[in-house]
Amino acid sequence: MLEHLSATCDRCDRALCDDRLILSMTTDAGTRRAYECRCGGVTVTVVRDASSDGASSRSSSPPR
Ligand SMILES: [Zn+2]
Repeated sequence: MLEHLSATCDRCDRALCDDRLILSMTTDAGTRRAYECRCGGVTVTVVRDASSDGASSRSSSPPR
């Protein structure tokens, strides 16, 4: 299983780390992430929400 999906730029094939993340959007189909590379290219990746494999649980404040 790949937990760490590393995105690469569409233009220059450079590895995109989280520092390059400019947009993250969660939809029914999954999570979309847009990265802006140093070359100026924007790469969008879609990560499907797999079954609750809560390996990395985010600390979200519980609703009251
Ligand atoms: Zn690039």
